[in-house]
Amino acid sequence: MIGRVIVDVPAAQTDRLFDYLIPTEWQAFAKPGVRVIVPFGPRRIQGFLIELVELSEFEKVKPIAEVLDPLPILSPELLELGEWLATSTVCYRVSAYQAMLPAALKSKVSKQLVLQVDPAMLPLPLQTLFSGRTVVAWDEAKKALKKAITVVKEPLDQEWLSISYETKEHTRVKKVKYVEIIPTNEDPVFSKRAEKQERVFTYIKGQEASVPVNSVLKQTGASRATLKSLLDKGLIQEFEKEVYRDPLQAEDIQRSEPLVLTDAQARVMEPVAKAIAEEQHQMMLLHGLTGSGKTELYLQAISAVLAKNQEAIMLVPEISLTPQMVTRFKARFGELVAIMHSGLSNGEKYDEWRKIHRKEVKVVVGARSAVFAPFTNIGIIIIDEEHETSYKQEETPRYHTRDVAQYRGERHRAPVILGSATPSIESYARAKKGVYQLLSLTERVNGRPLPDVEVVDMRQELRNGNRSMFSLALTEAIRDRLEKKQQTVLFLNRRGYSTFVMCRDCGYVASCNHCDISYTYHRKGNSLKCHYCGDEQPMPETCSECGSDHIRFFGSGTQKVEEELAKQFPEARVIRMDVDTTRKKGAHKQLLDAFGQGKADILLGTQMIAKGLDFPKITLVGVLAADSMLHIPDFRSAERTFQLLEQVAGRAGRDVLHGEVLVQSYTPEHYSIQLVKEHDYEQFVAKEMQSRKIGGYPPYYFMALLTISDTELASVMQTSQKITRFLKESLSDKAIVLGPSVSPIARIKDRYRYQCVIKYRQEPKLHETLDAIMNHYLRDATNKKLAISMDLHPY
Ligand code: ADP
Ligand code: ZN
Ligand code: ZN
Repeated sequence: MIGRVIVDVPAAQTDRLFDYLIPTEWQAFAKPGVRVIVPFGPRRIQGFLIELVELSEFEKVKPIAEVLDPLPILSPELLELGEWLATSTVCYRVSAYQAMLPAALKSKVSKQLVLQVDPAMLPLPLQTLFSGRTVVAWDEAKKALKKAITVVKEPLDQEWLSISYETKEHTRVKKVKYVEIIPTNEDPVFSKRAEKQERVFTYIKGQEASVPVNSVLKQTGASRATLKSLLDKGLIQEFEKEVYRDPLQAEDIQRSEPLVLTDAQARVMEPVAKAIAEEQHQMMLLHGLTGSGKTELYLQAISAVLAKNQEAIMLVPEISLTPQMVTRFKARFGELVAIMHSGLSNGEKYDEWRKIHRKEVKVVVGARSAVFAPFTNIGIIIIDEEHETSYKQEETPRYHTRDVAQYRGERHRAPVILGSATPSIESYARAKKGVYQLLSLTERVNGRPLPDVEVVDMRQELRNGNRSMFSLALTEAIRDRLEKKQQTVLFLNRRGYSTFVMCRDCGYVASCNHCDISYTYHRKGNSLKCHYCGDEQPMPETCSECGSDHIRFFGSGTQKVEEELAKQFPEARVIRMDVDTTRKKGAHKQLLDAFGQGKADILLGTQMIAKGLDFPKITLVGVLAADSMLHIPDFRSAERTFQLLEQVAGRAGRDVLHGEVLVQSYTPEHYSIQLVKEHDYEQFVAKEMQSRKIGGYPPYYFMALLTISDTELASVMQTSQKITRFLKESLSDKAIVLGPSVSPIARIKDRYRYQCVIKYRQEPKLHETLDAIMNHYLRDATNKKLAISMDLHPY
C-alpha cells in the first residue's frame, strides 16, 4: 500500500504529494487525515497522510517511519477544504491544514536565530544573540537549541551566523492521579499503630468511585507516606486519568430556558427552522438592531439542530467573545459547549478541540478559527457581527470566515446565518441581489427606542477656546450623569491613536529600527515597543536627533483620558478598560462586573467596550474622536466608522432610562457620522455604494493585493516594477493593474515592501499568473530574500 503525504514544509517545491510505502505494522492506522513522520532527504519530518493508493509511479519509495494519530485528525471533508483553501487563498496546502488544527497538534515550530560573532574570537564563543528581534544571552540560546530537532547553520558574513532550528513544542494531555480500593481487599484489619492508614482507607472506601489523590490528602489530612503504605500493602491501587483543563474554572452557571419568541423573531425563525429541518444549505443575512433578539434566535436555532442530533458552529468576533457571551451559551447548552478563542492556553485549546473531535460536545462557540471545528454532522453555522474585519485572517492562509462557512455549509447541507446590526456592504449587496436570503428585525425586543445622537463639532470648540479633549456639551452631560447617579461610557478608538514618543523641540518621533512605524509607549516598564516586530527599547531620556530632554509620549491614549477625567471630575469613579488593564486572566470580567454592580460612574475604554455591554444605568455614551478611523487610507474606512459608531451608540439607554450619545468629530459633515444621528443604515449603504462605484471598489470590483518584499530597497523596487509590468501585459484585457507603490507600512522586520493592486470583475486566472510569477522569481537562487504574497479580497 502507498500513502500519499503532504510534508510539513510550506514551500513551493514541497507543495505536492509525496509517495511512501506503508509498512504492515502501520497499515491499521494509516488512514487519510492522520499525521505521519516520514524520511525526507537526510531528515525525518512530519506530514499529513492525504490518500492511499495501490501503486506508486516511482520505483524507489521509502517507508513511512511512524503514524502519530490513532484516529484521523482531519476528516475527508476538512482534507478537501484544505485543498480548496489552498487554491482560493493562494497558499500551500500544508499551511491550510495547519490553520485548522490547535497548536498542540502542529508539528515543529521553525525558528531562526541570528548570532553576532565577535570577530576577535571567531569562530567561538558567540557573544550576543538575536532571535529576530530580542537580544538574548548566549546561555539562553543554548537552552533553546537543546530543544531543537534539526539545526542548520549558515554563515551570513564574517560577523553574523544564522541558525535555523526546529523545536517540537508539545502540549501534553493533562493527567491526574487517582486511587481506588482493590475490590478483593475490602475488609483488611489494621493494627493499632496503623490508625492513620485505616482512616485513609475508610475514606477511600466510602467514595462511590475512584478519587483524585489530591483530594484524598486534602480531605483526610494524611501524608503521601500513609498513602504509599496502603499502596505497598496492595490494599489500594493508583492510576492516572486524563482530565480536561476547564477555561471557565468550573464556574456555576445557572441554566436558562428558551424564551417565547416575539412575533418578529418568530417570523425570522420560520425560514431558519425550515432550512434546518429540510437540511438545506442557504446563506441568510440577519439584519437586526442591537437588542432586537438575534442572540436568542441563534440559541433557539441551535436547539433545533441539537434536537436533530446534529452539531452547531457559533462564531463570534474575538473581541466580543466575552465571559457574558460564553455564559449565555453555556447556560442554555451546558456541557455540550466547547469554547475556542485566543485567550485560552494551548493546553485548554487542545482539550476543547479534543472534546469536539471525540464528539463529547455538539456546539462550539468560538472566534474565527472555530469555523474549522472537526464536527462531522453540522446542522448550522452562525456568524455573529458578520461585518467585523477580524473574520478575515491577515496571515496565511488569508481566508475569510464567511467563505469557509459557506463551503462547509454546502458540504453539510446546513444553513449559514450571518448576523449584524450593520452588515458589511458586500453581504448587504448580496442580500439585495437575492444571493443571500435577507431576514430583518427592526425593533428592540423591549420596544425601547434607539438613543438620541448628537454630533459635536470639535473645530468649533477649538475656535471657542476649549482645548480640552472633552467638548463643553460632553463635560456638562458627564456632570449631569454624575449628579443623577447614572452611568457614562466613554469610547476611544485605539486605531489611529497611538501613544508615540515625540521630541517637542525638533519633532523627532521615536520609531522602530526594523519597521517604518513609530514605537508605542508603555507606561509599565517605561519602555517603547514596536507592535509589528515586538522590539522593545527603554524610554530615551534625551532626543537622539537634537539632544533635547523635552522628549515625551504624545497622543491621547486611554491613560491620558483617565488623567484628564481625574482632573476635571475628581469625584468620579472611573474604570479603564484597554489592552493594558485586561491583560490578566479574568480581568475583563472583573472590571465589567464591577461596573455592572455600580462600583464606578464612568467606564472608559477602547473597542472592547463597544460590544455586548448591557447595563440599564448607562444613559450617556461619549465618543471622543469619531474620525480617527475615517482618515485611515482604506476604502472601508467610512463603513467601519459608521459600524463602530452604531455599535457604541447601542450601549446607551438599553432599559427604561433613555439614552443619549455625544459624538465628537472634526469632520462632522461626513455622511458616515451624520447618518448615525438617524441610525439610517439603508441611507448609509446607498451613499457608500455610490462612492464604491466611483472608486471602483468592492462590491463592484474584486480586488487582489500583491505584496513584494525584500531586505534590499533597490532590489524590491526593481522586482516590483518588473512584476507589475508583467501583470499589466498578461491581464490587460481582463483587469486593472495599479502600481507598484510603496506599501502603507513601507518596512516591516527590516524588509522593504511594495505592492500592486489588481481589480477585476471576473477572475482573470490569477492563480496561473501568480504561479508564473512565483516560479520565475522565487526559484531563482539569487533572489533568496525576496518574498511575494498575494491577498485576494484584502482588508
Ligand atoms: P441581540 O443579540 O440582537 O443584541 P438579544 O438576543 O441579546 O439581542 O436580546 C436583547 C435582550 O432581549 C436580551 O436581554 C434578551 O434576553 C431579551 N430577549 C430576547 N428575546 C426575547 C424574547 N423573545 N422575550 C423576552 N426577552 C427577550
Ligand atoms: Zn529633538
Ligand atoms: Zn518593529
